[in-house]
Amino acid sequence: MALVNSKKMFEMAYKGGYAIGAFNVNNMEIVQGITEACQEVKAPVILQVSKGARAYANHTYLVKLVEAAVKECPDIPIVLHLDHGPDFETCKACIDGGFTSVMIDGSHLPFEENIALTKKVVDYAHAHGVTVEGELGTLAGIEDEVCVEAGNESYTKPEEVIEFVTRTGVDSLAIAIGTSHGAYKFTPEQCTVNEEGILVPPALRFDILEEVSKKLPGFPIVLHGSSSVPQEYVKMVNENGGKMPNAIGVPESQLRKAAELSVCKINIDSDLRLALTGTVRKFFNDHPEKFDPREYLKPARANIKELVKHKLENVLGCAGKADECK
Ligand SMILES: [Zn+2]
Repeated sequence: MALVNSKKMFEMAYKGGYAIGAFNVNNMEIVQGITEACQEVKAPVILQVSKGARAYANHTYLVKLVEAAVKECPDIPIVLHLDHGPDFETCKACIDGGFTSVMIDGSHLPFEENIALTKKVVDYAHAHGVTVEGELGTLAGIEDEVCVEAGNESYTKPEEVIEFVTRTGVDSLAIAIGTSHGAYKFTPEQCTVNEEGILVPPALRFDILEEVSKKLPGFPIVLHGSSSVPQEYVKMVNENGGKMPNAIGVPESQLRKAAELSVCKINIDSDLRLALTGTVRKFFNDHPEKFDPREYLKPARANIKELVKHKLENVLGCAGKADECK
C-alpha cells in the first residue's frame, strides 16, 4: 500500500489502548531494521525524519528509502513524518515533497505565536491530505538542533490544550510530562536506587496526561524523548571503548502505561542509535582486521530489528495491528 497519513492509525490506537512507534530514520540500514521488524509482526509504523536527518542524508534520498520500504513491506501501513518541523517553509517543503505527516514545533514560542504558526501549517497540510502534530510545553535534552537546557523545560499546561487544539486544528499534540530528548534523560541525583543498585528515574507526570485527556477526550497525544536507553547497549558501548556514563532513559513500563491511555505516538530515536553504535563498537573490538562496512552494518541492522520488534510487542502494543490501521 502507498504511504498513509496518521489519521486512521491514531483513531485505532486510541480505541485499542496501544501506541504507534515513531522511529527516526537517517540511513538505509535504520530504515530496513525498523520496517523489517514491523513487516514481520504486522505493525503499523511512523518513520520520522528530523531537520538534522534531512541535512545529513538529503530529503530525496530519505523519501526514496522510505518508498523502497513501502514496496518491500506491502502488508503494513507506513507514515512518513517530519519530526520537529522548525518553520512553515520546512513543513511546506516536506508536504510538497511526499511526506504524509508533519510536526510543527512552535513550543518555544509565546502561546499566540505558536497558535498562528501551527494554524498556518495545518491549513496548508490539510489541503494536501497531510496530518499535523503540534506541541505545547518543552522537553529538556538535545535532539539534533533542538536543545533545551535542563531547568528551562516546562510541563504542558492542561488549561491551554483545548484552545490550542481548537484554534489550530492540529491532528495530534505532543506534550511535556517529564520525558526528555537524548540518552541522558535524568541525572543520577534525580533518580532513586533500587535493591539491585540500579538507578530508577522519577516517574512521568501521569497526572498531567490524565488532565489533558479529560479536556480532550478521544484526541491523540504524542510523547517525544521516549527512549528507554537499554542498559545492555550502554554497557556494550562502554565495554568497547565508548564513554557514556549515567545514560538513563524512561522505563518501558511507564511507556506501556502511557500507550494504554491517550498516548497514540511514542518517539524512539536514541535506542536505535545505541543499538547501532554498541554493535559496531563491539564488532570492531572483536574484529580489528575487518574493514568492509557490510560486515559491521549487517549485525547493527539486525540488532535494530530485534530492538524494534521488542518495542512493538512489549512496549507499544501495536504488533498485529497493521490491518485494522489500513
Ligand atoms: Zn522530539
